[in-house]
Amino acid sequence: MPSQNPVFIPGPTNIPDHLRAAMNMQTMDHRAPDFVKALAPVLEDLKKVFKTEDGQIITFPSTGTGGWEAAVTNTLSAGDKVLIARYGMFSHRWIDLCQRHKLDVEIIECEWGTGAPADLFAERLKADSKHEIKALLVTHNETATGVLSDIAAVRGAMDGANHPAMLYVDCVSSLASMDFRMDEWGVDLAISGSQKGFMLAAGMAIVAVSPKALAAMDSADLPRTFFDFRDMMQANAAGGYPYTPPLQLIFGMRAALDMLLEEGVENVFARHHRLAEGVRRAVAAWGLELCAKTPDLYSDSVSAIYVPEGFDSNVLTNHIYDTYDVSFGIGLGEMAGKAFRIGHLGALTDVMVLSGLATVEMGMKDLDYPIELGQGVAAAQEYFRNTAGK
Ligand SMILES: *Cc1c(COP(=O)(O)O)cnc(C)c1O
Repeated sequence: MPSQNPVFIPGPTNIPDHLRAAMNMQTMDHRAPDFVKALAPVLEDLKKVFKTEDGQIITFPSTGTGGWEAAVTNTLSAGDKVLIARYGMFSHRWIDLCQRHKLDVEIIECEWGTGAPADLFAERLKADSKHEIKALLVTHNETATGVLSDIAAVRGAMDGANHPAMLYVDCVSSLASMDFRMDEWGVDLAISGSQKGFMLAAGMAIVAVSPKALAAMDSADLPRTFFDFRDMMQANAAGGYPYTPPLQLIFGMRAALDMLLEEGVENVFARHHRLAEGVRRAVAAWGLELCAKTPDLYSDSVSAIYVPEGFDSNVLTNHIYDTYDVSFGIGLGEMAGKAFRIGHLGALTDVMVLSGLATVEMGMKDLDYPIELGQGVAAAQEYFRNTAGK
């Protein structure tokens, strides 16, 4: 029997039936007036989710990684110095991408489980009196460790140092599930994708670009063709795409935006916080530790959980998959074998989260973890009961 079980990986996320239906559509001529009418309001409404008025929204048939590549190649030149802190698998992969594009990447190594080091950024930017650093690249929600970084603090560090570098933020696993404020935080390039908070299939990269970043295109000489912002903006202004648009995803995005805006983005964030807190209560009841070092770093979209000494987290996630047909996130990079992840973003309810926690408990019990069945579930139930409808 095909499984109806939800996934608990931190993206791609569960697709609500309503959005699956919205993506199930017959081919339409993308040069016809109906498509032209459909695209512009989607781009306009995406601004509300990024909380930007000045930003330009650009979409590509791609994923988040393509959004990074587009952001970098449209605004920087080979040899440009960029500053990046490495505190997880995604900040690591962003560093790799910049290095392959021959940027001069200055890396601040941070312990995994910590977030963007605003104090170290401030120090480094103050020392850069010649303003050689062109950009700071920050991962808002480090999906490998379940750490949410304080982007306002990073902006504060940049302003405090009076430094003109641009701020690039990866918000792939935070946008539309946790608060993001492009204009208020002075973000120049914000990068996201369709398959996490937007609850859609993978295949659309979404980049929000500040006027300053658009101006940087004049001198940026990294090669770009498919990902050229200007080609896309010109075509979008005429109601189209410079090549074949991902029609199903654009109509899916229309439906996803309607869902998110109807619930209200602040309510969406509150729902994510509550579900995440239920998961954290369960983790505490199991006597386990989160990778995120301190509560101010806790992510509301994913929790990375250390398994006890002597256990292998990949054995646990494999066992749960084989036995109960439910997927949880494996430990990535430095966390391989040490931690598993519960993705709790997108279309999720109390009931779904409780089923996930119950499944983790069965898996752990099967493998002789020092836990009791019901321990974590009860803690989450208690929390959900006491906060339901409030
Ligand atoms: C998922 C994710 C990405 C991008 O992955 P794609 O598979 O290319 O969409 C980038 N950064 C973070 C933090 C992510 O969680």
